Order: sequence, then structure tokens, then C-alpha cells
Amino acid sequence: MAALVRPLVARRAWTGEAGIGGGENAHYHATGTKYMTGDRPGSPDDGHEVATVRRIQLGNTVFEGLNDVYVLGGTGADERLGLVDAGVSTQETRAELEAGLAEYGYAIADVDDVVLTHWHADHAGLAGEIQAASDATVHVHAADASLVAGEETAWDRYHALEERRFEEWRIPDGPRGELRSFLDSHAGAQGEPVDVTPFTDGDRLWIGGSVLDVVHLPGHAAGLCGFAFDAAEGREAFVGDVVLPKYTPNVGGADLRVDAPLQRYVESLERVADAGWRRVWPGHRDAIDAPAERARTILDHHRERTRRVVDVLSTHGPCDVWTVSAHLFGGLEGIHILHGPGEAWAHLDHLAHAGVVERDGDAYALVDTDVRVDSLFPAR
Ligand SMILES: [Zn+2]
Ligand SMILES: [Zn+2]
Repeated sequence: MAALVRPLVARRAWTGEAGIGGGENAHYHATGTKYMTGDRPGSPDDGHEVATVRRIQLGNTVFEGLNDVYVLGGTGADERLGLVDAGVSTQETRAELEAGLAEYGYAIADVDDVVLTHWHADHAGLAGEIQAASDATVHVHAADASLVAGEETAWDRYHALEERRFEEWRIPDGPRGELRSFLDSHAGAQGEPVDVTPFTDGDRLWIGGSVLDVVHLPGHAAGLCGFAFDAAEGREAFVGDVVLPKYTPNVGGADLRVDAPLQRYVESLERVADAGWRRVWPGHRDAIDAPAERARTILDHHRERTRRVVDVLSTHGPCDVWTVSAHLFGGLEGIHILHGPGEAWAHLDHLAHAGVVERDGDAYALVDTDVRVDSLFPAR
């Protein structure tokens, strides 16, 4: 659920990319790149093994557009086949994944490992079905494990948290009903329960003959992770929805469990900017060749958005989250009824932690008339 909360563009992207009403479906294509795994300390091989990373792009009629699934290994007789992420759980997407794998000569039953960047349905949805067909090991960060596992108590807690936030954010009955029916009608995209194998920051995974180093990058989701690896020309990483080429991933609405989500996300973006990766492979769209620059651009975007939130409060006085969202984004539809106020809340919460605004009931008020927004973000 990476998304894009921008007023007009957001809805155009929603209908255009996600294909709801747009007639875009059932297309995928695959690309291949050669990678070296080896000559690093701890590599299981002798330094000459070549792993191949390939991409399958899956159509996505449920969330924000094409999803990238990366295919690792499977090239030698006894080499394991791994996937990074899995796409939404719909029959259509499963058929696309099957067709994409078949292009490389594989079936779903051949998959040995699935590594998930985070719990969102557009990344984890098909993991359960793949596991049922192949007995694959499904790896996910510990923070997202109970949701991917489909544990009832975890989902009950999540749904209770949703209701509490919708109330606190003062989402009016009309849009709240629309959002609830949107979420209910897409609940199936989350897929079947999964027997999960949790990992944590700093763990090293051997997937499809490649060594992946886990880098926890929370914000958009609590368990969101990147997986760094050696490529022929340097370090690269699979990053899910940490940084995307075009839109800025939603923060605040996409995973309600994240405490101080904007602060966490800012720290994650700094980590990406400092990682020295020469290229990253996101969960949507194409590879990003200047990831540090992209991370800094997203930081700039959030600094600017914080400025706008301060402007809203200084112009209109104390506001609840829904009102700030309306000033920022105007009218919202579908999933944006969650992501708009979620984003507004993440910024208000960031300002509250810094002592710049104070929460009184469900309203936020400026307490500082001379706000130095730059001081709330890392230096450029
Ligand atoms: Zn996503
Ligand atoms: Zn996501």
C-alpha cells in the first residue's frame, strides 16, 4: 500500500495505475540482470558463483499499480529458487505470477523461499498460496509476522486500532463508511494464512543462492525491510516501499501500529541515503539508480509538507486531523480516505513530539509562533 497522497494526482494515479475502471489488467513483463554473490566475508560460496536476479511485474487492480516480484536463483540443478515479494492475492495476479515464472521455466511449486519486504497485501498477498503449492519458507520481519501469519488476535487488534484512529482523526461518517466498505471489499487481497519464519535487522538470509543482508527500514510499515546484496558493480538492495521512483510512500495511514511514524521514516530515509547502495529495486516501478538522491528528495518533500501543516494551523487555528487533511488534500476517495488523514496525523504527531504543537482533545494547536521546520529534519 505505498501511496501517494497528493490531491489531484493521487486519484488519477489510482484509477490509471491500479486500473480500477481503467481496463488495465493482466500484463507482466520480465527483465534479467546478472549478479555476483561472493567475495564477501560470510558468503557461502567460493566467490565465483553467479546468481541471477530477474523481475516479474504483476498487474495490481487492488492497490496502487504494478508490483515487482524479484526472482533469485533456480539456475543450477540444486540451487534454490527464491522470490522477493509476492503480489496481491487475486486469481488474476496469481495467473500473472505463474505466467511470469513460466517465462523463466519455473512453476509456483518450484519456489523454495519467499522473502517479504512488509505485510501489505500487494507484497505479501500470494505468499500463503505459494507456500501451499510449494512448501516454501516465507521470511518476514518479526514486527509484521503475526499479520502475515493471519493471526486472528493480531488482525482484531489492528481493526480495533483502525476504529480508534478514525474516531480520533474525526473522519466524518460518510467518508468513514466509504473507507470501511473499501477495506472490507479488498480484505481478500491479503490472502491465505502463512507459516512464517521471522527475521530481524542485521540477519543474513541465503535466498536462491544469494546472500541478502536484512536492513530494517520502518515508517511506511512497522516491519518494512530492505535486503542488501553484492551486485557486479557494488552493493544494491531490494527495498519494497521504502523509496519509490515516482510517489512518496504513505506514512501514518499505511500501518497504524508504527509509533512516531514520520520520525521512524526520516531515520530510514537517512539510512538509505547513507548506505552507499548504487541501485535499489523498489516494490513498484523501475530500479532507482541514485537511491541516496531519491531518499533526500523524499525528505525534502516531507519537510515541505510539514511547512504546509504549520501554515494550515497558523491560518485556521486549532484543527483536528481530518480538517488538516482536507486543507492539504481536498476531497478523498477509496484508500486515500485512510492515507490522507494518516499523512496529516504523521506530521502533526511529528510536530507534537517536537513541542511545536499541542494536542487538546482531538485538535492540534500551534504553541510556537516561530517554527523552525528545518530543525525537525536532518540537514540537507
Ligand atoms: Zn506497495
Ligand atoms: Zn506498502
